[in-house]
Amino acid sequence: MKNAYFDQALELLRRFYGYKTFRPAQETIIQSLLAGHDTLAIMPTGAGKSICFQIPALLMPGVTLVISPLISLMKDQVDALSEQGISATFINSSLSLAESRQRLAHIAAGRCKIIYVAPERLDTAYFHSVLEKVEISMIAVDEAHCLSQWGHDFRPSYRQIAPFIAELPRRPLIGAFTATATPEVKEDIIALLDLKKPALHVSGFDRPNLSFRVLRGEDKQKFITDYIKKHPSDSGIIYASTRKEVDKLYALLQKRKLAVGKYHAGMSDKERTQVQEDFIYDNLQVIVATNAFGMGIDKSNVRYIIHHNMPKNIEAYYQEAGRAGRDGEPSECILLFSPQDIMTQRYLIDVSTENEERKIHNLHCLQRMVDYCHTPECLRRFILNYFGDAHAPENCNNCSNCTKDAERMDVTIDAQKVFSCIYRMHERYGLALVAQVLKGSSEQRLLRLHLNELSTYGLFRHKTLSDIKLMIQRFVATDYLILTESEYPVLKLSPAAYDVLRGKRQVFQLIEKEDKTPPQKDTGLFHALRELRKSCARRDNVPPYVVFSDATLQDMCRLKPKNLEEMLEVKGVGEMKLKKYGKEFLDCLLSHE
Ligand code: ADP
Repeated sequence: MKNAYFDQALELLRRFYGYKTFRPAQETIIQSLLAGHDTLAIMPTGAGKSICFQIPALLMPGVTLVISPLISLMKDQVDALSEQGISATFINSSLSLAESRQRLAHIAAGRCKIIYVAPERLDTAYFHSVLEKVEISMIAVDEAHCLSQWGHDFRPSYRQIAPFIAELPRRPLIGAFTATATPEVKEDIIALLDLKKPALHVSGFDRPNLSFRVLRGEDKQKFITDYIKKHPSDSGIIYASTRKEVDKLYALLQKRKLAVGKYHAGMSDKERTQVQEDFIYDNLQVIVATNAFGMGIDKSNVRYIIHHNMPKNIEAYYQEAGRAGRDGEPSECILLFSPQDIMTQRYLIDVSTENEERKIHNLHCLQRMVDYCHTPECLRRFILNYFGDAHAPENCNNCSNCTKDAERMDVTIDAQKVFSCIYRMHERYGLALVAQVLKGSSEQRLLRLHLNELSTYGLFRHKTLSDIKLMIQRFVATDYLILTESEYPVLKLSPAAYDVLRGKRQVFQLIEKEDKTPPQKDTGLFHALRELRKSCARRDNVPPYVVFSDATLQDMCRLKPKNLEEMLEVKGVGEMKLKKYGKEFLDCLLSHE
């Protein structure tokens, strides 16, 4: 049954946000909050969580507190709301004492409807005294998984939320929101926030606009360089697992004259803020980063996420990969797997200060991540099953295992050549030397060891050295070969490889077909709209996607509105935005007729 306020909610959606309809999950959650039920909403990134608490906040009498750990994001969210004509503010440690007090005075005077606050601020006496003067109708706890130590981002400060609520003169309505919650995390959120008979809404975890690819045995540096060159006007993030890897990859890409930025916890606050701003404001298209980057980034037009290394678990992977395509436009999530990544992650678990129980839990989660990299089944289905979403179809036709850009080929003869070479080298040498022998190289060390006298010397003379290495890495990734975990990893044969040598087993591999898509070109109009967006953003001191999202610009290109009335038809153009930017964008569209 529709709540009496629901029509008003729809009207606000049109007026402030420029959208015609709620997405089904948004509708259910908003109805639930408007009916006064505590609500726990689990919905994937990009599903439109913010609107679920912002619109009820506008319809309720007092103020809404939004508790969020993402300090750097608060400013953007408040900017975005202000752009839409909604009175909002934020309180966190980035403000000076004077600024905080000024904002609190505004709140006390009833001039703010939505207040973003960091959990650390909740226990300050001054904040309490201000809140006593206003009516808090609702508390929205964003990123609620931070409450649980079983989640992937536990934050002790989140444990201050429940005592804070308990001390309020009147208990407000509580909404909790997150994109990732396994069943144990869900239970924790309900218990720790003391939600009263909560309505639970779990929307599917699927992000249909994201396509997933796992590539094994790839020359990672070459792949990343080619990818960036092929997508010159797309924003992307390249995640690597350590600061050292980030520095190395960054230096390499710089050397290749690609305009990229880097971000990791070893840089100064100032440097990091600058890089983050440059990325958000579209001055830098590509960032190479550790997982320290992204939590505070709400940029909706990130078109690709490349993982240079496998992350520690599926939750972390899906959250990082999920930073692509928040605007609903097609985007790519590519994971470049190599067996060394497993060792790195094992090492990180080993040296961590967590207790034994957690370490075992973490190793188990890591194994599921490794399984993802090896599964021959649909990658999307694998992820959705992991999160307990039982409705995933067999084939998504939008991941590297479902699409046909990989071909299953019989590579038994090549495998026998490689395995026999390793056998003849007594399983005592590393990948580079084995590849050189197969290539027939006259490298000094090889000659000194008389490896040029082996019958397998020069068997792949016609191939390039990097192709031979790639082939060997693929045999490692498919468990025919074992790379030892020693300081200088050595190639060994697995029992399966012996079966191949004895002719008892054939080897098939999915070989990626060469990517023949031509480098993308910006259509002139889209490019012009982006440039205009950038200059408006600079003028108004907000990130470009706060002016309009990529999806909105694409919609303008599709609809080509001829006047301001038609402009309102464009997805993401509400009345405020129309007033503020409508004319400029219309002029730009008309000049490209
Ligand atoms: P989340 O917080 O769940 O990751 P956001 O609240 O940032 O998602 O929303 C993701 C994108 O979807 C934003 O660009 C937002 O403007 C857009 N969006 C939200 N609700 C709707 C809707 N009802 N119709 C069209 N687009 C929407």
